Amino acid sequence: MRTWGMIATWRMAIEGVTLGSEMLKNGEKCQDVLEKAVMFVEDYPFYKSVGYGGLPNEECEVELDAAFMDGKTLSIGAVASIKDFKNPISIARKLSADRYNIFLVGAGAESYAHKNGFVRQNMLTERARKTWELRVKEIKEKNLSPYDGHDTVCMIAIDQEKDMAVATSTSGLFMKKKGRVGDSPVSGSGFYVDNEIGGAAATGLGEDIMKGCLSYEVVQRMKKGETPQEAAQGAVDEFSKELIKRRGKAGEISIVALNNKGDWGIGTNVEFTFCAATPTEQPKVYIAKLVDGKVNIEITSEEYMRAYKEKIQREI
Ligand code: ASP
Repeated sequence: MRTWGMIATWRMAIEGVTLGSEMLKNGEKCQDVLEKAVMFVEDYPFYKSVGYGGLPNEECEVELDAAFMDGKTLSIGAVASIKDFKNPISIARKLSADRYNIFLVGAGAESYAHKNGFVRQNMLTERARKTWELRVKEIKEKNLSPYDGHDTVCMIAIDQEKDMAVATSTSGLFMKKKGRVGDSPVSGSGFYVDNEIGGAAATGLGEDIMKGCLSYEVVQRMKKGETPQEAAQGAVDEFSKELIKRRGKAGEISIVALNNKGDWGIGTNVEFTFCAATPTEQPKVYIAKLVDGKVNIEITSEEYMRAYKEKIQREI
């Protein structure tokens, strides 16, 4: 049987993974699959850490980061701190076709997107603005850490011709400083893929993920023969310990991985949901929980899925 496969971070990826798995089954290319699947997440207003409806920075502006990598050519395209464009992932993908200037930020990224006809859109929704206002109040009143509330959609796919790609898209940390860039658009940290090995992509505290170049690390571990599960969990465990040893604490880190045989795995140091699909596994949402320091992976219950949907659409 010809293989294909797809894995993605967080519950929010399930519609994209379902759509993508149909495309892969039909023999479509992994690059097209990932762009379409990530666009779905970017366009959905209730996913509050990606694209339209993403949570804003300190100044109530939605600044977005996205990246695209092709595992055959190792081509990379990325944008960071881009404002008011509908689909950052498509801009990143287009940049990946270029020889020079493949990673653009802020005004430069916006001017490139404008000249290349990408759709402009005000990405700040009423809901995100309200969430921001409430947060500003809470931070003042309760002296809370401002950075709770983030997540990146990361997707990796292998198609029937055994080509691989990876894509990431995020609004980064809620309440981040203007101009702050996390790991998601940074090659080797937020994502990496090589047709000859496999791919990995990360979500969590970008400031810590970047310290370990964790996506590249996971791909190198797979190159040495580790399964995606061993590589991803091994890298997260080792690096979390290292961070604790050197800095007293480790941020939240979760990684998805897929090798070039279509086997998937994840690594995490917190509770983490993700989605996967292969020819023998219907698209599903899984939840990884840490039990006595070990990761336990289960399929999410229908009740979990209902509660999630209710929560993300709840009135603010
Ligand atoms: N890694 C992202 C960032 O630091 C956020 C996340 O994935 O939760 O921008």
